[in-house]
Amino acid sequence: MKKIFLLAVVSIMASAAMAQEAVRPIFYEVSFPNAMHHEAEIVMTIPQAPEKNFTVRMSRSSAGRYATHEFGKNVYNVMATDVNGKKLQLKQIEGDTYQVEPPAAGGAVKVSYTLFANWTDGTYASVDPSHAHLNMPAAFMWVPGLESRPIKFAFNDLAKYGWKVATQLKHEGENVYSAPNMQYMMDSPTELSNFNETSWNVVNSDGKTEKINLTVHSDDDQATIDGFGKMVQKMVLEEKAVFGELPSYDFGEYTFVSDIYPTTSGDGMEHRNSTCIVLPVPKVGGLEERLLGVFAHEYFHSWNVKRIRPKSLEPFNFEHANMSSELWFAEGFTQYYGEMLLVRSGFNSVDDYAGTIAGLVNSVLNTPAAAKYSQTQMSRYSVYADAGVSIDPNNDNNIFTSYYMYGGATALALDLRLRSEFNLTLDDYMRTVWLNRGKVMKPYTIPDLQSDLAKVTTPQFAADFFNKYIYGVDKNNYEALLAKAGFVLRKAAPGKAWAGSFSGSGRRGRAGQARTNAADGISIATSTVMGTPIYKAGLDAGDVVLKADGKDVNSQQAFDEIVATKNIGDKIAVSYKNRTGNHETTVTLEESPYLEVVTFEKAGKTLTADQQAFRNSWLSSKVK
Ligand SMILES: [Zn+2]
Repeated sequence: MKKIFLLAVVSIMASAAMAQEAVRPIFYEVSFPNAMHHEAEIVMTIPQAPEKNFTVRMSRSSAGRYATHEFGKNVYNVMATDVNGKKLQLKQIEGDTYQVEPPAAGGAVKVSYTLFANWTDGTYASVDPSHAHLNMPAAFMWVPGLESRPIKFAFNDLAKYGWKVATQLKHEGENVYSAPNMQYMMDSPTELSNFNETSWNVVNSDGKTEKINLTVHSDDDQATIDGFGKMVQKMVLEEKAVFGELPSYDFGEYTFVSDIYPTTSGDGMEHRNSTCIVLPVPKVGGLEERLLGVFAHEYFHSWNVKRIRPKSLEPFNFEHANMSSELWFAEGFTQYYGEMLLVRSGFNSVDDYAGTIAGLVNSVLNTPAAAKYSQTQMSRYSVYADAGVSIDPNNDNNIFTSYYMYGGATALALDLRLRSEFNLTLDDYMRTVWLNRGKVMKPYTIPDLQSDLAKVTTPQFAADFFNKYIYGVDKNNYEALLAKAGFVLRKAAPGKAWAGSFSGSGRRGRAGQARTNAADGISIATSTVMGTPIYKAGLDAGDVVLKADGKDVNSQQAFDEIVATKNIGDKIAVSYKNRTGNHETTVTLEESPYLEVVTFEKAGKTLTADQQAFRNSWLSSKVK
């Protein structure tokens, strides 16, 4: 792919050279005179600007983050001039869009603005004296209509702050970097800081060398990052074994751009030849194994989503959210591999992995949304669910199951079924999808994924699997499938009374958060979960639970302690109040449907030789 990409650049250059005047890059000059107040000054020079009125704008979405974000709110002092500094007419026509009247004589236009940036994650940007962490759509205006123009950056003030540059942008020398076009630029987050760095080479299956860089902006010393790099290196090889080869990275390099600090927001965002990983912990040292999962997930994306690419995400739309029905595969299968490969590479035990499996299985067997909605529909909800920002609460507890978990559970079932019914593995399927779609950069649709599964299995199996589990809401038999590898799927709290929880996992919205912790009872902030005894009793957000079984309660724990003294089928009286006054209801206790997964050994059962062999073939290292 590197070859194809370079050829493409060369041919763009060649055809441009044939025109009367070569297309010159849009040039961004980025300075940080006011970093302590979280501001950057950005000057965008547009050579050969359009001759008629044109617009410049901020984005409303960011590649890989599926909800929309109003990046336009954080730019101000927007101004347009000609090359001599003469002011041009500039009119704000939408929140994030400005119309520029070009100079009558033609030529270049400069648009300058101040960026405020104070949120470190994979979507936004942050500037302070420790770093400039730039997710490009959050930081850089662009010119609709000129998306194919090459782009150049000069990052100023590096020496002033002691910063280096971590990015997948092409290094042109000194502080100058480039991208072939706007889409590529937007996909290339850039961290300017005094990070530690370690690099290593991997010889690829085609004999070429791919250089992997790990940059970490954190309070760790170089030795810690070197040690962590060794672990990442092992994980990289385990992922390579799944696909049989590394992707061919542009310029022969892939970079983990990571930022580890307690006040950052936890996030991982995949890009074509890099990933931006931000983790809110004190440092890497001592937490290596805990942090590795995000690195494994994001790196897997350099095949699955950045190259094995859903058609629905191509090209990425920076003005609206791209809606995709394929995230159960793009994110869910990546979720499955990111976790499972930590077992294969020796960083997670089989017993711990049993807990991970339980999470996947519960998300598909024990959520109201998975009972009603397909994973294609759950994928489409990402335009709201993926770090979507809203003031009002939503009903996620009852209408949404994460496509990461739902899809992860589907990958698990498919892997176990391929192993037991076809003497194949999910790796075989992923390699087929890689060769048919990713390596040749042909974006896929769901029918393409089904046709690839038909190629490795049979058309009947593929049709049945997609109709039942991808388009439909049927469930695989996880108990029987897991037993083949010597895992028991069973009730997590058999024989114990259960009522459900007043604090579900759904996002609350800001209003909901403000209403928690009433002093005189349990203030229910989020929707209760359909099917739980408290839901059936009519309790929901807005209610304040005052008494249970005649006793005052003011916390979930106090309520749970009362439930724990009861039996399945017992009824407890609950007093609560809301805007319509004081009320009484009855909660009838049930057995919790939640499941746990343990190894046969932990369950006191004998592991057969067949089960041991099945488990080894699944979970042991594939690195030769
Ligand atoms: Zn992901």
